[in-house]
Amino acid sequence: MEYRFVIDTMLEKLARWLRLIGCDAIFNSRMDPKKLIQIANEEGRVFVTRRRFLPEDADIKYLHKLNTEDFEEQLKNMIEVFKIDYQNNLFTRCVECNEKVVKVDKEVVKDRVPKMSWEGFSEFYECPRCKKVFWKGAHYNNTVKKLEKIMR
Ligand SMILES: [Zn+2]
Repeated sequence: MEYRFVIDTMLEKLARWLRLIGCDAIFNSRMDPKKLIQIANEEGRVFVTRRRFLPEDADIKYLHKLNTEDFEEQLKNMIEVFKIDYQNNLFTRCVECNEKVVKVDKEVVKDRVPKMSWEGFSEFYECPRCKKVFWKGAHYNNTVKKLEKIMR
């Protein structure tokens, strides 16, 4: 079972990392918790928060409370609790938009990728919403290393 999440406003870094490893994680810093909880309930998502006190009348279907400010511990906790495959879906989702990226023809992104990367890589992916281009370059390798360190 693959869980989907709504991430509370103060947890932006966690939300970005969840997307990085391929999780569907809604994050919107301009929405109040009531709205976020409503979305989570309507869409069957887990509401993830670090708040100690939630709105009194909030009726939350699926709640996950984090009790640490350390984002690495937060991420590790989420991966363990929800049994998230953090290795095989890396870079499959846009960190900015939460959209699944799609593979695009190399020629299409020629003007949007540094020459060295364009020449060195054969697979490129694009976010259908913001059109940001992704490839498995240095940033990918650094992310893999960082995840290994976090999960050790
Ligand atoms: Zn995007």
